Amino acid sequence: MFRFWSKTKKFAENLLFPDNIKCIFCGVDIDHFEQRPYCDECAKTLPFNNGHRCEICDQPIFDDATVCDLCQKDPKPFKKAFCPFLYEGAVKNLVLKFKESNHRHLARPLANIISKSLEGVKIDVVTYIPMTPRKEKKRTFNQSKLLAEEIGKILNCPVLCCFSKTRDDPAQKELSFKQRREQVVGQYTAKSVRLNKNQNVLIVDDVLTTCATVSYCAGLILPQVKNIYVCGVAREYVRPNFQSNESQRFFCPKKRGKQGF
Ligand SMILES: [Zn+2]
Ligand SMILES: [Zn+2]
Repeated sequence: MFRFWSKTKKFAENLLFPDNIKCIFCGVDIDHFEQRPYCDECAKTLPFNNGHRCEICDQPIFDDATVCDLCQKDPKPFKKAFCPFLYEGAVKNLVLKFKESNHRHLARPLANIISKSLEGVKIDVVTYIPMTPRKEKKRTFNQSKLLAEEIGKILNCPVLCCFSKTRDDPAQKELSFKQRREQVVGQYTAKSVRLNKNQNVLIVDDVLTTCATVSYCAGLILPQVKNIYVCGVAREYVRPNFQSNESQRFFCPKKRGKQGF
C-alpha cells in the first residue's frame, strides 16, 4: 500500500514538476533522479572536485601537501569545506542558470549532491550566506537559502538564519583575495540566534572562491558553537600570488577523475 502511494506521489510530482525526472545538465529522462540527478553520459565529463585537494578549503592541490598555501598562510575558522564540483563548464552554466534564471527546482538535486559529499560528518544546524533584502527581493529568492533548506530536509536538521547582509558592494569577482577579505568586513552581521557549544554548524553558500565570505561569517559564530563546516555546489580554484598579496582565479588545469558521487 505504501509503495502504491509513494509511486502515485512520484507520478503526480513528475506531472507537476517534470524537471524532477531529467538530468539536470542535459535534460534526458533518468530513472535514478533521487539517487543521482544526472545521466551516465554527463557523469563522464562533469568537473567533479574529487582529486587531491586541501583538507580544509577543498580546493585542488597539485603537490603532496595536505593543506593549501592559502589555508597555511591564513588559517580558516571553519573545520572543513565540501564542494562536490569545480566551478567550470557545465557546472558553472548550471549554477548561473539556478541563480540568475529562476530555476529554483535545481535546489533539491544540487542539495542532494552536496549532501552526499557530507556523508559521515555530524551536522546539528544548517545555516546559509544571506543576501541583502533588496537583492533578495529583486531576485525573488536566495539560492544559498534554498540549498540550505533542502540540505536541512535531507540531513533532518533545523535551518537557522544566523546572519544578515547589510550592504552590497561592487562585484567581488574582480577583487583580489586581500581586497575581498577587507571588503567583507562589516558586510555581514550575526543575528541573535540561539546556538550552543555542542552544535556542529554547516554554512551553505553557492560557490566557494576565496572563502572570504564563509570565513568571515564562520568567525562571527565560532565562539558560540563546537565546529563549523561549510559547503557549496562548486569550488572555484584560487591560485595564491604571495608576491603581490593577491590571488588569481583560473581554471583548474589537472585532468579530472570521472567518478561521481
Ligand atoms: Zn545528462
Ligand atoms: Zn585550503
